Amino acid sequence: MTIRIAILGAAGRMGRALIATVAATPGAVLSAAINRAGAAELGTDAGLLAGVSPLGVPVSADLAAALDISDVLIDFTRPEGTLAAIAACRKAGKPMVIGTTGFTPEQKALIAAASHEIAVCQAANFSVGVNVLLKLVEDAARTLGDAYDVEIVEAHHRHKVDAPSGTALALGEAAAAGLKRNLREVGIYGREGHTGVRQTETIGFATVRGGDVIGDHTVMYLGDGERVELTHKASSRGNFAGGAVRAALWLKGQPAGSYSMRNVLGL
Ligand code: NAD
Repeated sequence: MTIRIAILGAAGRMGRALIATVAATPGAVLSAAINRAGAAELGTDAGLLAGVSPLGVPVSADLAAALDISDVLIDFTRPEGTLAAIAACRKAGKPMVIGTTGFTPEQKALIAAASHEIAVCQAANFSVGVNVLLKLVEDAARTLGDAYDVEIVEAHHRHKVDAPSGTALALGEAAAAGLKRNLREVGIYGREGHTGVRQTETIGFATVRGGDVIGDHTVMYLGDGERVELTHKASSRGNFAGGAVRAALWLKGQPAGSYSMRNVLGL
């Protein structure tokens, strides 16, 4: 059976990678490529936009029409694009894969509410490697315990608009879970001036922005006389796109609910 996949944010960096990945995935077909109204790419063949062969699917701004001819929607846009899309998916009864990051707690609550009616798979990072890393980070935090200070450093390209990255926050959540702490209470997002000595329970984040870095993340466990570092470096957007398409194929046929890549990968 062929799964019809619609991509929202088709003209973006991830959108283009997703188009190429869907075109190369057996059992999947690109049914629609959607971008915001007024985008310069509207009307362009999605395959040409992604640098592959023409696919006969022009980029459109009509999300409702796209959902009519699709089994699942993959969204990599901005939070306001995701929220408009989740309302449309709810109305159409179609499952949704969410790769967009940078949601406020209120926006997260709206997505959670929608997942009572439709199947939603959301991940701050769809790469298989990062999802294995999430598990390793939690296990290492639990084993090393309070004697090791946890700090997270991430680097991304100059165009990224949210910080720290959704992946860095997910890594922080994983470390906090292993240490039985609440990241909302212990997260420190940047330091400046007279900060005082480091409080043991804190989990610190440092953000680097520049160039064309696709995404680097390191979790450090800093002890007395040694430190452990767990690092992931993305060298292509294809790994995020591959994971998101894998999630889309898995999501079709799942009951309404909130899913993550851990569910998709069976971790
Ligand atoms: P981008 O700016 O290159 O592309 C975003 C696209 O979405 C653009 O084409 C833009 O026109 C479109 N868009 C923006 N608002 C829209 C709206 N309201 N309706 C419809 N289309 C809209 O960004 P990108 O680098 O492709 O990243 C997109 C998102 O995906 C970001 O939030 C980023 O952090 C996230 N991301 C997630 C993962 C992951 O694995 N989960 C990986 C990479 C990037």
